[in-house]
Amino acid sequence: MIIGLPKEIKVKENRVALTDGGVASLVRRGHTVLVERGAGVGSGISDEAYVAAGARLVTVDEAWGAEMVVKVKEPIKQEYKYLRKGLLLFTYLHLAADQPLTDRLMESGTTGVAYETVQLADGSLPLLTPMSEVAGRLSVQAGAYHLQKPNGGLGVLLGGVPGVEPGKVTILGGGVVGTNAAKMAMGLGAQVTILDVNHRRLQYLDDVFGGRMVTLMSTEENIRKSIAQADLVIGGVLIPGAKAPHLITRDMLSLMKPGSVIVDVAVDQGGCVETIHATTHDDPTYVVDGVVHYGVANMPGAVPRTSTYALTNQTIRYALELADRGLEALTSNPSLLKGLNTFQGQCTNEGVAEAFGLKF
Ligand code: NAD
Repeated sequence: MIIGLPKEIKVKENRVALTDGGVASLVRRGHTVLVERGAGVGSGISDEAYVAAGARLVTVDEAWGAEMVVKVKEPIKQEYKYLRKGLLLFTYLHLAADQPLTDRLMESGTTGVAYETVQLADGSLPLLTPMSEVAGRLSVQAGAYHLQKPNGGLGVLLGGVPGVEPGKVTILGGGVVGTNAAKMAMGLGAQVTILDVNHRRLQYLDDVFGGRMVTLMSTEENIRKSIAQADLVIGGVLIPGAKAPHLITRDMLSLMKPGSVIVDVAVDQGGCVETIHATTHDDPTYVVDGVVHYGVANMPGAVPRTSTYALTNQTIRYALELADRGLEALTSNPSLLKGLNTFQGQCTNEGVAEAFGLKF
């Protein structure tokens, strides 16, 4: 198959969908990979590295002209002209939040396979996990930075020093984001409390981290008590397919210390803090009732060298299946079939169809 790898053009998006190693594994299976010149530069992968992996360097039009196009972000308006019948597009699509793109994919007859809806039999989302791992770990770095006085925070060093108590970190949601945030915060020497509604999850965290962190059932009372003491609060709650619940309401901010920081990673699902709204890497924070709010919706974009490799590690096996077997890969792999969002002008994802009242 001929596979195209265009450069991402969304503002400040430096990731690329395949590493040179990913390209090499496609080439080894006999596929042709067309890489747009400069596609990997933001992730530290040179054109020469792609050529050494067996790719051909091409223009943007040629990359998009391939049978299958592999990307990171959903196509933006300037890219709509490339959508067409016969194109297999494999990327994050997040269609339930994007009616114009859904319409365009359907009108054009593009086969759209979305990373975020590929789902394993146990319900997990293997192509979302790597970015949650990155965002969870990054959330502590971002929080630690914004806790510094010159950056608007309380002026607390999360690790403390000998003779001075460490900072306190409260994490809402003990899933992928929460667990990765906990590891980083504990690594820095902070005191960590993690809240979840899933008792099994709390048992797991308790087994793995033992006495090094406090686990609490996520009740309103426990949340109130915990955020009152916290220097840094991290939001990592997810109810699949739904908006995040507002676990911290506006009136609860008055319980928190002035200058404390909230990093709401769940902002992409509306956030678990009533007062959060999406921000950008250029202007990541704002203050409400004395509490610093960080709401960057594409946190992994800040560390493209890590994120690109983490993403390719997971996407490549599905990209290989699609390249080897074309659309047949969808019928033979139920996990991959869950990724199919648009096909022959139809919407093939229940959640997206429901969001826009489309036939499913
Ligand atoms: P996950 O499913 O692994 O974990 C979510 C956890 O939340 C689960 O353990 C669940 O039991 C828990 N939960 C549900 N309701 C709760 C409640 N009321 N109180 C406490 N815990 C509750 O999900 P994840 O992969 O960790 O993702 C978390 C969020 O982070 C998602 O919204 C995801 O889209 C988002 N995310 C954002 C970015 C970003 O750049 N901002 C990047 C990656 C992921």
